[in-house]
Amino acid sequence: RVKESGKNDCILYSESWSNSSLERLTLQHEMYRAIQRQEFVLHYQPQYDIGSGTMVGVEALVRWKHPIRGMIPPGEFIPLAEESGMIVQIGDWVLEEACRQNKAWQEAGLPPMPVSVNLSLRQFVQHDLAGKVAKVLEKTGLEPQYLDLEITESMTMDVAHVSRCLIALTNMGIGISVDDFGTGYSSFHYLKNFPIDRLKIDRSFVRDIQQDPSDAEIVAAIIAMAHNLNIQVIAEGVETEGQMEFLRKHRCDEMQGYYWSPPVPSTNIEQMLGSAYIQ
Ligand code: C2E
Ligand code: MG
Ligand code: MG
Ligand code: MG
Repeated sequence: RVKESGKNDCILYSESWSNSSLERLTLQHEMYRAIQRQEFVLHYQPQYDIGSGTMVGVEALVRWKHPIRGMIPPGEFIPLAEESGMIVQIGDWVLEEACRQNKAWQEAGLPPMPVSVNLSLRQFVQHDLAGKVAKVLEKTGLEPQYLDLEITESMTMDVAHVSRCLIALTNMGIGISVDDFGTGYSSFHYLKNFPIDRLKIDRSFVRDIQQDPSDAEIVAAIIAMAHNLNIQVIAEGVETEGQMEFLRKHRCDEMQGYYWSPPVPSTNIEQMLGSAYIQ
């Protein structure tokens, strides 16, 4: 009987509406258990020095190894996690796992380099983010210069609070990068008010760098301006040799993109670094 009435309730809604909202609820519910069940996994995308072509860092990117749905990319669950607040727990796990992995690579004798971790603005709302990060570094034994935090531009934030957090993190020796630079609401505001070490030029500007003269001008101007402010520049989403040549000509510092490597499991990074080390 209960089942029957449940079935009838569904008729009240259009099929697509009930499906998508049920899907969202189900995913949100499953996310709560995913951490304990160790269903999240980090892949790492190499970052290269543009002049020498050597690997100088990796970005940690989370995936959800769902027991039934398979590998779910972050674009499909991070927005939901932000909405429900679960991003704080997921973010805590990502931070600790990335630091643990980076320390393990160093202990295995691989050349040390920073790991970049994406932070949600939600994580700044927590009390004492810098203290939390310090605890993770202590627990994992990773030195602060081998951690870089990526923040994105957003309209909804308490500038004074975020600024205090970033200053505390910078004073600890941790690197700060602005992710997706140029797509947000307050790019220049960030540069003016926050202690930024590095800009990541969003891949939407890099994509048509060779065909679209205004994209080319914008990218060249971002690089020049950042350098005048003593800020390093990395280009995201580099997929072709031509894009790389343009960036090299304009003295971009680093690059990241499918042209060299997509995000890969940690063991692939070990192979890449191991062979680079032996050479
Ligand atoms: P993001 O931080 O800007 O990361 C770069 C994204 O671009 C990654 O997608 C990467 O796979 C993709 N990408 C890299 N090179 C290329 C390229 O040459 N061409 C193209 N078309 N794409 C490229 P992914 O891994 O799906 O991550 C998407 C977004 O999800 C990230 O964008 C980031 O905003 C978010 N994200 C991932 N992991 C985390 C996390 O641990 N915490 C938080 N808060 N957000 C995360
Ligand atoms: Mg990022
Ligand atoms: Mg990005
Ligand atoms: Mg991006």
